[in-house]
Amino acid sequence: MKDNYGREINYMRISVTELCNLRCRYCMPEDGICKKAHEDMLTEDEMITAVEAAASLGITKLRITGGEPLVKKNIVSICRRAAAVPGIREVCLTTNGTLLPQLARPLVDAGVSRVNISLDTLDAEKFRYISRCGELSQAAAGIRAALDAGFEKIKLNAVLIGGFNDDEIPALAELTRQYPLDVRFIELMPMYDSGDFGPEAFIPYTVVLDKLPEAVPVEQDGGVARLYRLPGAQGNIGLISPVSAHFCAACNRIRLTADGKLKPCLHSGDEYSLKGKDCDGMVAELRGAILRKPSWHGALDAVNRSHAGRNMNQIGG
Ligand code: SAM
Repeated sequence: MKDNYGREINYMRISVTELCNLRCRYCMPEDGICKKAHEDMLTEDEMITAVEAAASLGITKLRITGGEPLVKKNIVSICRRAAAVPGIREVCLTTNGTLLPQLARPLVDAGVSRVNISLDTLDAEKFRYISRCGELSQAAAGIRAALDAGFEKIKLNAVLIGGFNDDEIPALAELTRQYPLDVRFIELMPMYDSGDFGPEAFIPYTVVLDKLPEAVPVEQDGGVARLYRLPGAQGNIGLISPVSAHFCAACNRIRLTADGKLKPCLHSGDEYSLKGKDCDGMVAELRGAILRKPSWHGALDAVNRSHAGRNMNQIGG
């Protein structure tokens, strides 16, 4: 289905939970979140009905996210059922990786073909600081498990934070020479109340290129990242610039939150509820939401924070 600006909407991100086993400073408050009532959240059956409704309108690609999707007890079942919905060609997942040692193979068997794993630093102390409670060794074990499990594609996501990990850009990029995976650098987005980062924390994607003089541009793959490659590398470097050079004109996605709200734009407060609706009702909401998708997300910087009204863990990134 096309929106009012001629964009073909074929990609839906589903957040299956707001809960997470980490507390990343840019993503969620230290205390976690005020847990919502079970009956206010989408059930597994409702999530699958939403996928069927979305597929009937032309959604072919799904990304399962969170919170941390792997803390959800029925995550493998959700992925298996979503992958089996007619019209769905690709199921991808975004995770912090810490639970991949036990779940990577079941997820591949369930039909998840691609996985994005968050990794902001290669320093154990800094990992503890940014995640507030995580261990780098657990994330590293998850990445190893993903490499062994046979996903078609693995990408590591690093959020760029000035004074925290900008000195690690070359070391993170070097992983693309050591392993068959992509490393993507994502500009820090000023969300609702996540983190107390000042303007100095924002690092535009161009800084990555300054720090990687060997990187050469390579052909785009249809995604939102600008792609580069280091000589001899097995994977690409991706640069994602929602703040300094937004890609709204090419945005092909909608988002569904764990409490059943459709968000046609990550940074807009507009939400349309699917909770409690049957498939026809969901199709009608989806159609309306897609037609009301804004042309762009508006200015985004330290002064103009996101209008999403939620932190990233409550949307899914
Ligand atoms: N828990 C999973 C994870 O860690 O990847 C999935 C959910 S997380 C919200 C999805 C992605 O959003 C992660 O790659 C994370 O780094 C990114 N993210 C969260 N807050 C962000 C922010 N303020 N700016 C940029 N990226 C952010």
